[in-house]
Amino acid sequence: MPIDNYHRHIDYIRLSITDMCNLRCLYCRKMEKKTRLDILRYEEIIRIAWIIGELGIKKVRITGGEPLIRREAVSLIEKISQMRLFSEITLTTNGTKLAELSYPLKKAGLSRINISLDSLDRERYFKITGGGELNKVLMGIEEAIMNDLAPVKINVVTMKGINEYEAEGFARLTIDRPLWVRFIEFMPISQHRNFWESRCLPNNVLKERLFNSFSLIPFDNVVGNAPAEYYQIKGAKGAIGLISPISNHFCAKCNRIRLTPDGKLRPCLGNEDEIELKDFIRKGVVDEELKEIILQAIKNKPKAHHFNIKELQARQMVALGG
Ligand code: SAM
Repeated sequence: MPIDNYHRHIDYIRLSITDMCNLRCLYCRKMEKKTRLDILRYEEIIRIAWIIGELGIKKVRITGGEPLIRREAVSLIEKISQMRLFSEITLTTNGTKLAELSYPLKKAGLSRINISLDSLDRERYFKITGGGELNKVLMGIEEAIMNDLAPVKINVVTMKGINEYEAEGFARLTIDRPLWVRFIEFMPISQHRNFWESRCLPNNVLKERLFNSFSLIPFDNVVGNAPAEYYQIKGAKGAIGLISPISNHFCAKCNRIRLTPDGKLRPCLGNEDEIELKDFIRKGVVDEELKEIILQAIKNKPKAHHFNIKELQARQMVALGG
């Protein structure tokens, strides 16, 4: 398994397979017209996945943009699964296509799934997502549970004054359903500096509220990669997680790299350094050279992210692979 200059074992890659999304979440995407990226072709993603697997990176997450709007998504997952190089293949999705795709995804070899959902209120969900239909996602969640894409995790980005008071409602979902609801701190990515400053809610505030509302016990039976702090409502089927990249960053334990949809390796989400892979591939680089480039990029992974001290990043989350 590759190791970086700070002795971190890198065993996890997030492969972003598209920069397109069928939602326009208010914190994720600029409303202005986007130029489309020249994204990696199917065979190029497969080749990189193979090389990454051979290097000893054992866990892959497919993401985007919205990965399930790429028509080849299920087939890509099947191909990666057939490589037999990875201990798990997971997916992050907005859930809008899961009602119809949960079964094919499970059959293709998907291990488990994370679903992004920032509101349980139909109108608020519509507003946050720029037109999304909550019902579709709720149906998708049920299908994901039925098809055993477990544990099914729900990711909630909490924003001050927007959805913060839904935290208890989300937590209650875990009582009867086998869901892991995770509250993720809003990160300052792309152009929303003022918005971010006024909306970022530290997880310790949320934690205090949750502890006041529920009888919570620590939950240790963790599956996954995010250094979340987990709790469980006594007797609940699911769990509650707090992921705090801003107030309590976990860079010292970071085990991941990212591949952007346009074929750049991004060793750190909060640092804009990227290493070109697609151009080398299209110029005919051989596998051994590609492996060397990737290993070198991993070695030079930054020690920590710079969200708090840098200007906002140029690349939007949708084009990064969240
Ligand atoms: N479309 C998929 C989805 O909705 O899950 C995958 C891509 S999306 C960019 C991945 C995750 O990044 C989502 O859970 C989204 O809420 C989260 N995200 C986007 N911008 C963020 C930000 N500024 N801070 C924290 N999370 C963010």
